[in-house]
Amino acid sequence: MDAATAHDFARKLIDEAHALSGDEAVALIESHIAHNYGLLSRDPVVKAEGPWLHLKSGRKIFDGVAAYSAANLGHGHPLVREALKAFLGSHAPTVLGRFLPDPWLALFGRKVTQMTGFDKFLPANGGVEGPEAAFKLARRWAHKVKGVKGTPNILYASHCFHGRTLTVTQMFDEDEKAAREGFGPWASGFKRVEYNDLAAVEAAVDEHTAAIIVEPIQGEGGINVPDEGYLRALIELGRRQNFLVIFDEVQTGWARTGELFAWQHEGPDARPDIMCIGKSVSGGFAPVSGILANDALMSLLGPGSHGSTFGGCPISSCIAYAALHAIEEEKLVQQAQEKGEWLMERLQELAERAPRIKEVRGKGMMFGIELTKDGPDGHHFTELLLEKGAIIKDTHHWVLRFTPPIVAGKQDLEFALGCLEEVFAGQTAGA
Ligand code: PLP
Repeated sequence: MDAATAHDFARKLIDEAHALSGDEAVALIESHIAHNYGLLSRDPVVKAEGPWLHLKSGRKIFDGVAAYSAANLGHGHPLVREALKAFLGSHAPTVLGRFLPDPWLALFGRKVTQMTGFDKFLPANGGVEGPEAAFKLARRWAHKVKGVKGTPNILYASHCFHGRTLTVTQMFDEDEKAAREGFGPWASGFKRVEYNDLAAVEAAVDEHTAAIIVEPIQGEGGINVPDEGYLRALIELGRRQNFLVIFDEVQTGWARTGELFAWQHEGPDARPDIMCIGKSVSGGFAPVSGILANDALMSLLGPGSHGSTFGGCPISSCIAYAALHAIEEEKLVQQAQEKGEWLMERLQELAERAPRIKEVRGKGMMFGIELTKDGPDGHHFTELLLEKGAIIKDTHHWVLRFTPPIVAGKQDLEFALGCLEEVFAGQTAGA
């Protein structure tokens, strides 16, 4: 195809998208896309910049969820955008298949291992592929290194969230009907323990235990922060009892909690055997995820053991390489620490004046605002907040998740705080 035809199509494509009315866009989504998500708004997002989303109606709203922490760098970070434009302009290959080497994966691989301190990275796409690959690696280790006879067990925590594939669907709490119902039977070899309860782990571990998977702070489960020392103690227990520790940093990673990874709050002794990453590793530009581990472990996965057509493809690698640079250039960890401290103070002050706020918890720029149960639930407040101009989304009915883009300026954050103030201050219990 000649360049002029392609250029003409590209221009028309943007015009066509912009010409759709809000109602038309929603109607098309509802008639052609599976209804596995409920829509919070019927006003489509047509532009996104930093922490702001621009809607078809002309409204501008604050993204207080940062695409579930995939947009820690904000939307459309200029460094990643420019890198992507240059990549496309250079006619670099976008996808090849991993049997062919390319310089983009080479650069990304070096960068991601340098920044995380692990020997090797196994690239994938969606976040859930991290835990899936980690389970395969842990089982292979259990069979080949630990010498487990029969089924190796992997422990997981109550209230956890590791994604939506069949293996991890069984990990939802029993009362999570929409997530669990009708999807059984479950894969064997998985066992539940209470989150933040070391004694429960000790009691569950036996000679069949391959690994435990834990979120260093639970996101979907309601921003649950474990006791100081829990993560380090898990690692120590793993060493003593000969099982692997997997930390799922898909949501907590890349500065969200005020360290590059949340386990780092507990020092170098809290380093896991396997770490899952995703979301902001690409600055929100593409699905990029994967697992990190040291050579002794990762060498158990040779050719043919695991793979993905798009995992580690050149375009994703270029994007992720640029995003990791942006995370460093922006001093994102420092930003999350400073703004996080300031925000926590402001949110605590608000909580004192707002009877419906039971507790504010979190770390860095990851906050959970827990509501009392004597009135409308979190979804009601999410809708009110959206009316005011901010997305601050409910999880588990009674907790609002507030995880704004880390690059959001103080003025932007003041806007979000103002929305919370209007919705909560002066609310009386039961209102
Ligand atoms: N693990 C954690 C801790 C998550 O929070 C998520 C998504 O929210 C996932 C895994 C799954 O990521 P994805 O939705 O990209 O598959």
